Amino acid sequence: MSSTDNKSSPAAENAVKPSNFLRQIIEHDLAAGTYASRRWAGSPGDATHQAAGQLDVAKIRTRFPPEPNGYLHIGHAKSICLNFGLARDYGGVCHLRFDDTNPEKEEMEYVNTIIDSVKWLGFDWNGSPDAKPYQASDYFDFMYRAAEYLITSGNAYVDEQSADNMRANRGDFGKPGVDSPFRALSAEHHLKRFQEMAGGLHSDGAMVLRAKIDMAAPNINLRDPAIYRIRRATHHHTGDTWCIYPMYTFAHPIEDALEQITHSICTLEFEDQRPFYDWLLARLIEGGLLSAPPPHQYEFARLNLTYVVTSKRKLRQLVDDKFVTGWDDPRLPTIVGLRRRGYTPEALQLFAERIGVTKSDSWIDYSTLEGCLRESLDASAPRAMAVLDPIKLVLTNWDELFGAGNLDLCSAPIHPHHPELGNRSFKLGKEVWIERTDFEETPPKGFFRLFPPKASADGTVIAGNKVRLKYGHVIECTGFTKDAAGNVTEVHATVISDTKSGTPGSASVKVKGVITWVAVADSLSAEVRLYDRLFTDEHPDAGGKDFLATLNPNSLKTIQAYVEPSLLSAQPDDKFQFERHGYFCADRVDSVVGKPVFNLAVGLKDSFGK
Ligand code: ATP
Ligand code: MG
Repeated sequence: MSSTDNKSSPAAENAVKPSNFLRQIIEHDLAAGTYASRRWAGSPGDATHQAAGQLDVAKIRTRFPPEPNGYLHIGHAKSICLNFGLARDYGGVCHLRFDDTNPEKEEMEYVNTIIDSVKWLGFDWNGSPDAKPYQASDYFDFMYRAAEYLITSGNAYVDEQSADNMRANRGDFGKPGVDSPFRALSAEHHLKRFQEMAGGLHSDGAMVLRAKIDMAAPNINLRDPAIYRIRRATHHHTGDTWCIYPMYTFAHPIEDALEQITHSICTLEFEDQRPFYDWLLARLIEGGLLSAPPPHQYEFARLNLTYVVTSKRKLRQLVDDKFVTGWDDPRLPTIVGLRRRGYTPEALQLFAERIGVTKSDSWIDYSTLEGCLRESLDASAPRAMAVLDPIKLVLTNWDELFGAGNLDLCSAPIHPHHPELGNRSFKLGKEVWIERTDFEETPPKGFFRLFPPKASADGTVIAGNKVRLKYGHVIECTGFTKDAAGNVTEVHATVISDTKSGTPGSASVKVKGVITWVAVADSLSAEVRLYDRLFTDEHPDAGGKDFLATLNPNSLKTIQAYVEPSLLSAQPDDKFQFERHGYFCADRVDSVVGKPVFNLAVGLKDSFGK
């Protein structure tokens, strides 16, 4: 397609974007110059490092900070499009940062798929297309230094209470907490203990480092939250260098600050953590460790999509227990699954824009996602004919009109709105595959496709119905055959001469029905995988329900279809509109040129849940 076509795609950069509260905040900050004095030394670092840099050319910095403990899903796609999209639209930079501070659950497999998914969605990070992603584990030295600073400045202490006592002494919503007996010991004592923790002198769980804030704070997150714990575990980057690891709530603000993030956007459940985020960065700026102004955290509602689960744990269970074929099963809402199903980056970007960002949780209907895919593919997908549930049609006067064994060449546009893409061609012959549902022995009222002649009450014969074979001739149904079990085995019809599409006489016979077809002698048998939703329940895991109980037993139906010969050259990932059916994608794993396998990406009409 030409570049002008790309510009008219739904996610075109010049499309007018609806505003939202985050855009308003950013526009306000840009106008007020909130971050105009920030410096950037070309890489993340502490106050001294950044002070030596230039004024930051990035007007804002956002970040997408996945934990590399699973595959990304549609919810992450929302966050990716949001963070990278804001940076792109406001002259900023978005960072891809692996939040790999938890040594136990993280693996390189996940790091690699996350990188692939973000790239595939159309984004690059950290200021250049070939920059390396950042990783939080690179900041462990700084985090350790920050912890020591908090201790020496009287803002943190090592608590040796048992876990049970710590929990009991935290209080609850109606009841203030109780100070730990260790809280009042000297900074020297705590520093020594902390160094012992790092040196491996104490066992896992024997003590934790806590911020010293206020055990009576109404926000329980400010009641001296734990910031470092002892955990003997090998980390996929730092190996066995550390036996203490920072808690997420401590690590995350520091990661943002070292990277000079301006707008740190996260989901609503972190709202109660924001006071600690601000408290921590204020202390570290006071101490000269981090540069001002600090990043600011904003929260938005996470994506909840009907008919799917997005929790990593549940997705993993579906994969591990083989309810699906893998992380990239086309029924899963993972980015790799959606991609394999036939989703395009444009469709996901359009979806993210269309659902917008809000501050209150809600459910998005799965059909909204499908609508975006339809929009994306309608504009770009070449058309093709396919017969999914074939029955044979025999054109009984073919030999007389065209000569026995001859085929008649037909042509059709590759895309009805893009004549510049040219035509495809296929042949019509005596025997033709049509959809079983395009013939009715006894037609219901309003049925305009094939039905046979029948005798009326007064004995006269009512002719069989006429339809057009799309891009071919008008035919008239003359009869059918049945097997012993009463199933229709063949439909018979005659070709009406001089009615071929595109020829002068084509409109001489008016018909109400047009049906799709492929000739038996000029078609290709192909495996087609018809996917349906994975769960029958709109909210499969809401309210602690057993999500496995509502798995749809018919979520995959594999059929052999007949498709037009142009599909022989389909490359994996190629997408087509099968006329009258929907959008199909050559499977990126199992399809090969010459022997294509197609996935139903989305039907032509919104039939979801109907
Ligand atoms: P899960 O709960 O499925 O394990 P997570 O939130 O722990 O997901 P992370 O890897 O920590 O996954 O997420 C990276 C980023 O993606 C975070 O900033 C998070 O807010 C965002 N994110 C995750 N799930 C969603 C969602 N459903 N909607 C919007 N953003 C999401
Ligand atoms: Mg998380």
